[in-house]
Amino acid sequence: MTDRQYQYIGGDWAEGKSSDEIVVRDPATPDDPAVSFPGASQQQARDAVAAAAAASEEWNRSTPEERDAVLYELADLIEANQDSLAETLTTEEGKPISSSRGEVGRAAEIFRFFASYSRTATGDTVPSSDPETFTYTVRQPLGVVALITPWNFPIATPSWKLATALSTGNAVIFKPSSETPMIAKHLVELLEEAGLPDGVVNLVTGSGSTVGDEITTHDAVNGVSFTGSTETGQYISETVASRGIPMQAEMGGKNPLVVLPDADIGAAADAAIAGAFGGTGQACTATSRLIVHEDVAAELTDAVVERAEALSIGPGMEDPDMGPAVSAEELETNFDYIEIAKQEGATLLTGGGRPEGMETGYYVEPTVFADVESEMRIAQEEVFGPVLGILEFSEFDEGIDIANDVAFGLSSAIHTEDMAAARKFTREIEAGVVKINGTTTGSQIQMPFGGMKASSTETHKEMGQHAYDFYTHEKVVYRSDP
Ligand code: NAD
Repeated sequence: MTDRQYQYIGGDWAEGKSSDEIVVRDPATPDDPAVSFPGASQQQARDAVAAAAAASEEWNRSTPEERDAVLYELADLIEANQDSLAETLTTEEGKPISSSRGEVGRAAEIFRFFASYSRTATGDTVPSSDPETFTYTVRQPLGVVALITPWNFPIATPSWKLATALSTGNAVIFKPSSETPMIAKHLVELLEEAGLPDGVVNLVTGSGSTVGDEITTHDAVNGVSFTGSTETGQYISETVASRGIPMQAEMGGKNPLVVLPDADIGAAADAAIAGAFGGTGQACTATSRLIVHEDVAAELTDAVVERAEALSIGPGMEDPDMGPAVSAEELETNFDYIEIAKQEGATLLTGGGRPEGMETGYYVEPTVFADVESEMRIAQEEVFGPVLGILEFSEFDEGIDIANDVAFGLSSAIHTEDMAAARKFTREIEAGVVKINGTTTGSQIQMPFGGMKASSTETHKEMGQHAYDFYTHEKVVYRSDP
């Protein structure tokens, strides 16, 4: 196998046959491409679906023991390869190496968690109205599913989709982001090594328009699970909805952290910094709006600015607090939004440019704006970078209204010692995740995850026990024995 083979179809590695050349760059040293290879052609995408369809019948009927053996083995292999996987991840995505190690470790945990469910995920036995009839439900795999993933958690996100799809007996076409194909390839190589039968997972790497459209519109695909931007997610949802197959899309966010006057201001500042600048602000759950009561706004703003200015920035391999943006496009978007915020009248308190002396990588300073108003674009649109806007309120209801005044509804947080206020926030906030005295980022794999409004199709949650619902059909059985 050479470095140009990024397609895995029916158990064979192959070079892509499209004319698109995918160039992967280390965002810390983008001048020398890390790898370059041709993307998959439409025919290869069709071949991948055919390979999954051919393998699906046997895998659909495999026993839980057969499936969990592969997934447990994979978890062990991920741990054994933790260092090289983490280095690959940092090389193409840019995040600090300790974060990459953490994400790789989490991938192993995810496969173990869902491997154990292979044996227990099941239907229900329901009391029957007729004593002669046994009533129960059974769950069966969808068959063939397409998994489409973004670049920002490039091993964790594919892992929770793959683990759930495979443990329920589905065959897969996996299309990773073209920004992070190396970690996807490494993961699939480990699946192969773990003993997954040929064709059960197929990797196609290529552009959304060539490969993505082919796999989402193919008749043999029985379900699509997507994570990425709202724009792409809504486009795919419309295509898939017209085919009447299950679709799940988790998309962008504009997540608020609301701070009441009784909050521990130091803890709130720490949460804002972790949420806004962790992962260079490139998390769907990143804190992008700090909505603070006017009585504590000055104190909190000072604490946030002081902490932001103390963050170290550098190449991910040096394990700084914050690495570079993933790509030149993302960097440019960050700077565009910084300009827009200034023009709209927000006050730049810190950051806003490239860190001094760091001209080569895709670096941007942690950036904080005050005097942000809810109608400004900086308060409405997802920047997906280390840019935090501070908005003030005087009444709690007004704070909640501001928090809800966006199209998105993914994650949210409130900082307060008043649990009645926290309950009211939980009831009224329009977000799929609510953190009380926490960060908007971060989740536990045993908890369901997903957004509301433009952040999600709200069809099925991912992770947690409920993740199975998406990957299975439920049949309702009435059995009257002769
Ligand atoms: P993106 O929408 O550009 O791409 C996501 C994936 O979709 C990629 O693999 C891409 O190649 C593919 N794609 C593009 N066009 C397609 C098409 N026509 N058909 C099929 N696939 C197609 O998103 P991105 O830039 O990779 O990721 C960043 C975005 O993802 C942000 O908006 C972020 O908030 C969101 N995100 C959401 C979650 C969540 O769980 N809600 C998690 C991580 C990231």
